Amino acid sequence: MQYACRMRAPFDIAVVGGGASGLTAAIAASREGRSVAIVDRMPRLGKKILITGGGRCNLGNERLDPGLFHSTNPGLVASVLARFGTREIVSFFEGLGLRIVSDGDRLYPATNQAASVLKVLEMEVRRRRVSVIPGFEAVSIIRSAEASRAAASDGRTIEARAFILAGGGRSYPALGSDGSAYALARTAGHRLIEPVPSCVPLLVRDPWCHFLQGQRVRAQAEAWIDGQRAAEALGDVLFTAYGLSGTAVLDVSTDISIALHRGKKARAEVVLDLLPDMSAEALSAELARRLEGGWGAADLVSGLLPEKFGRTIAGLIPGGPPRPARTAAALAAVLKGKRFAVQGTRGWNEAEFTSGGVDAGEIDRERLSSKKAPGLYFAGEILDVQGPRGGFNLSWAWASGTLAGRAAAGETG
Ligand SMILES: Cc1cc2nc3c(=O)[nH]c(=O)nc-3n(C[C@H](O)[C@H](O)[C@H](O)COP(=O)(O)OP(=O)(O)OC[C@H]3O[C@@H](n4cnc5c(N)ncnc54)[C@H](O)[C@@H]3O)c2cc1C
Repeated sequence: MQYACRMRAPFDIAVVGGGASGLTAAIAASREGRSVAIVDRMPRLGKKILITGGGRCNLGNERLDPGLFHSTNPGLVASVLARFGTREIVSFFEGLGLRIVSDGDRLYPATNQAASVLKVLEMEVRRRRVSVIPGFEAVSIIRSAEASRAAASDGRTIEARAFILAGGGRSYPALGSDGSAYALARTAGHRLIEPVPSCVPLLVRDPWCHFLQGQRVRAQAEAWIDGQRAAEALGDVLFTAYGLSGTAVLDVSTDISIALHRGKKARAEVVLDLLPDMSAEALSAELARRLEGGWGAADLVSGLLPEKFGRTIAGLIPGGPPRPARTAAALAAVLKGKRFAVQGTRGWNEAEFTSGGVDAGEIDRERLSSKKAPGLYFAGEILDVQGPRGGFNLSWAWASGTLAGRAAAGETG
């Protein structure tokens, strides 16, 4: 995509970061008649959008409940999503020519291609004559009453009357969001809630993971922190050479990641119910029936779990005189509540989201402006606002971007 690229100074508004939130912020501000520039440290805008939803881009959710977000400022999330919710997101994209379909509650482009989402955004950016300055890594913003100036790592500068910080979090840094934009917020006087990788596979040193690597089962996962249950989720669990992944594990990983990174000495565990559709009593009775029927140890869970599980639990069956009822109850307890001590996470390269970021309590909930620095606005994942999987985080990016763009336009008019 060829962008307009002018460095005329000053712009009304400069957006730092051309991801989901920065693109929508620039579109919203330019639609209000402002001169707008986007600077981005990457050679291309919106690279992360292309990998969202496994390349399909789960761009929204029919049940966009603000109560499901984590943030230091729940009022900000509620205010933004009340003004720009799923209806507005769908209408925004349909206005750009993108047809949207739902899959359950989740919304996707009808093309099933994330590239279509980026394409319509970039086309609008071009139509609106937004200046795009790629390869510009903003390292400082010096503010003055008339216009502020951002400097890039290579010495270039850009002037604007207002800046919107939309530099994202720290997940998938190879796609642009490396956390460098946090420094701009910090110098403006903002507090950072320690960013930690979220929605991330977990490191577990347990023979089960090694032996079962590659096995995927439907399970109930619970996160336990210092002996207290903190989160639970039903979904896939994937055993890997390094530990645990799969949707259920990703969904409970945030509490564990926060505890391990911020709590330092916290004891974190994942507890798996590997047969969530069977009660412990029913499972125990079934295993007792099999033991009494002379089933071999390695065949005991055949038909209930993948074959490799049989060989994994065979070692748990005690020798000596057979005690089917007692053995069955003990095995059922393991299969319904297998505990895994978590050593860490797979880190930023595999985390879908960032938990933490610029303290959202320091942001005006109506205008998304800084309470610390006049002329500074925020949008997207750079803020300490994080939703669950399912289109919530992109919804936040589109909504906060649009409202920050409009508010900045209103104040530079
Ligand atoms: C694998 C994966 C799959 C995902 N799937 C989904 C999904 O299906 N649905 C969903 O809702 N969410 C999904 N997400 C989350 C979603 O992609 C993000 O929440 C969203 O992209 C955040 O948008 P953003 O604009 O705030 O940040 P980003 O999209 O990260 O954009 C930030 C931009 O700022 C630029 N930048 C950073 N620092 C600077 C600087 N100092 N100077 C200049 N430019 C800078 C970066 O280069 C980047 O282009 C997924 C995330 C990942 C990693």
